[in-house]
Amino acid sequence: MTDLEARRHAVVIGAGMAGLTAAVALAGHFDRVTVLERDALPDEPVFRPGVPQSRHLHSLMGAGQRALDELVPGFTGRLYDAGAIPLRTPYDHLWFSPAGWCHRFPPSHTVPSASRELIEAVVRRAAVERHGVAVRHRTEVTGLDGEPGGAVTGVHAAPRDGGAPERLPADLVVDASGRRSRVPAWLTERGHGTAETTVVDSRAGYSSRLYEIPGGSADEWRVISIQPGPGQPTRGGALVPVEGGRRLVSLYGYLDDHPPTDEDGFLAFAASLRHPVLHDVLRSAEPAGPIHGFRNMANRRWHGEDLPAWPDGLLVAGDALCAVNPVYAQGMSMAAMTAVLLDRLLAEGGADGRTLQKRLAAGNERAWQVATGADLAHLGTGAADEAAAETAAYMQRLLELALVDADVNRTFFDVMMMLDEPGALFAPELTARVARGPARPAAG
Ligand SMILES: Cc1cc2nc3c(=O)[nH]c(=O)nc-3n(C[C@H](O)[C@H](O)[C@H](O)COP(=O)(O)OP(=O)(O)OC[C@H]3O[C@@H](n4cnc5c(N)ncnc54)[C@H](O)[C@@H]3O)c2cc1C
Repeated sequence: MTDLEARRHAVVIGAGMAGLTAAVALAGHFDRVTVLERDALPDEPVFRPGVPQSRHLHSLMGAGQRALDELVPGFTGRLYDAGAIPLRTPYDHLWFSPAGWCHRFPPSHTVPSASRELIEAVVRRAAVERHGVAVRHRTEVTGLDGEPGGAVTGVHAAPRDGGAPERLPADLVVDASGRRSRVPAWLTERGHGTAETTVVDSRAGYSSRLYEIPGGSADEWRVISIQPGPGQPTRGGALVPVEGGRRLVSLYGYLDDHPPTDEDGFLAFAASLRHPVLHDVLRSAEPAGPIHGFRNMANRRWHGEDLPAWPDGLLVAGDALCAVNPVYAQGMSMAAMTAVLLDRLLAEGGADGRTLQKRLAAGNERAWQVATGADLAHLGTGAADEAAAETAAYMQRLLELALVDADVNRTFFDVMMMLDEPGALFAPELTARVARGPARPAAG
């Protein structure tokens, strides 16, 4: 694939958000695109074992929504038609940040809220129906095809219903098989050497449950978010609306202070947050399912682009390449933004496989910095140097201002939702306002 001139068939491993969005991007450049997925994929948006994280809160960032709309025209409308709920930021958010409560400003951003299952189902349907992607489910990829040490020329796949294993030729294979990808190990076995993996682990864990809330006690505020902060530095929780009139509550804890998955422990953890409002809402709520836990949430980045010998014919994307702590809600947006980048790189042409892989890896840099920067703070390792300490202090004062000033709040969320560059937070006019400090107190 040095020049990627042969663009007959592309194979994608995994039909998660990274696999589906990559497939849609590839569909504009290859004659055929086939996604191979180990799980059975029902038409309905329901849980499947290959994506255990779907039981937990999955917020979409503005930039992810924009990327999905670019890849799948009309995505947002389809998601609303399927039952998603519009969330107006900050208006709909009862938000207790580390620096206090946020005032209720008019909406500056609106993003759809839905379960991960529904978001994925909408993208999958569009990939198949509108972009001609073939999705073969119950098919496990068991290895890469091609001469050892040479280009990847396809995959080995095994139907999970016991049919005969087969070899699927491809001009390009994209690995989107998630955090447990075996591609790094397969490459080592094939003689491409090994690449480092950077891990930053704040030892965070989630527990989540669906609820029905009679009487609209949570209607006044569609989202409740209590973040860790002074007095309770390790525990947080959030409630969001999802399709079907239900609310999804995810509690989280850092440094092994994980929310329990039993009834009493879950409620006690909710009661121990920095403010009791979430617990108060849950006391009048009807559980609509069991409590599920999730633990393996470390930031993990595989530096495959540094392999001694990167094989032509292969790219790695999504969590398989760079998975970040989900507390910061970036993974699906990163997947969609990577797919938009892939589309652009393929349209430009001319780059070899390693260069393409490097560009995809570089696209994750900002999200990686955000997640690991916040997690290093939780780990208490302190700022790396004086400049980093100054930036952290500035960000704290900026947050205090964003809680009470609508303009600053908008700029803050433009950047948090990855719609604007971080540099917007350091514009001269804004730094001057931060230096003056808030003109009124935080909300009570
Ligand atoms: C608890 C939790 C909460 C999260 N919350 C958010 C959030 O709020 N916002 C957000 O944007 N992101 C969130 N994320 C991140 C998000 O889920 C992922 O980053 C994003 O979906 C991209 O994942 P992926 O497609 O790379 O991998 P996955 O979603 O893991 O999908 C991988 C797919 O590959 C399949 N597969 C694996 N191996 C094979 C094989 N050998 N052959 C065939 N198929 C295979 C799997 O069955 C699966 O379908 C959260 C993650 C977790 C863990």
